[in-house]
Order: sequence, then structure tokens, then C-alpha cells
Amino acid sequence: MNDCIFCAIAAHEIPATFVREDDEVLAIRDVNPQAPVHVLILPREHIESVAELTPSQDGLWGRMLHVAQAIAEDEGIDETGFRLVVNTGKAGGQTVDHLHIHLLGGRQMTWPPG
Ligand code: AMP
Repeated sequence: MNDCIFCAIAAHEIPATFVREDDEVLAIRDVNPQAPVHVLILPREHIESVAELTPSQDGLWGRMLHVAQAIAEDEGIDETGFRLVVNTGKAGGQTVDHLHIHLLGGRQMTWPPG
């Protein structure tokens, strides 16, 4: 999609630090990390948000979760614990309108979130 920064990253048109990449899902380090581990997991396909997901994308969503799980293992935070965040829409705090999961870990998380 035009003017989507994550589509541009997926196309390698602008740089990012890739953690994983395959034909469906990519994972990059967040440019403004909020925890020692802060990785974004996103589909290559432009999907605006969770609010736009359809049942035909259940498999893709499941893959994104498994990629998050695998990266948590690779980063050594699977046993200590981690947080997955999916900001959705304006009031949900979403700033990039391309579906992504935040994987956060390496520090104690607090609740409630801001
Ligand atoms: P959200 O606010 O949930 O939409 O999350 C968007 C995230 O993308 C924020 O945490 C940003 O720091 C991150 N971000 C924005 N631009 C880039 C970029 N070029 N490379 C990596 N992360 C980015």
C-alpha cells in the first residue's frame, strides 16, 4: 500500500533491523524500544489492524503468534515472561496502520497499561 512505512520496510525500500522474515511474516526491532526486547511482528500483506482481520486470515494470525513465541525463545524471555500488545485504532494507541504485534520483554511489566 502507498505511504505505509511497514509495507516499505517489508519491500526493503527503507532500512530496519530484521529479526526474522519469510514470505508471509516479518519481525523487526522497534526503532523506539520500550523494553530491552521490543520486536514488532507483522504480515507482509497490508492489513490495517485487528479490526480488519477476516476468518480467512486466521492462519496468518496464528502464524504471527507462533513467530512471536519463537522470537521470545530466541531472545531468552520465554521463561521469565513477556507481553504481546496489539494497539488497534486511534483510541487503542495505534500509530502505524499496518497490523503488528509488539513483543515486549526483558523487564517487569506493569498493569494497568497507560
Ligand atoms: P503502534 O503505535 O502500536 O502502531 O506501534 C508502531 C510502532 O512502530 C511504534 O512502537 C514505533 O516506535 C514503531 N516504528 C515506527 N517506525 C518504525 C521503523 N521505521 N522501524 C521500526 N519501528 C518503527
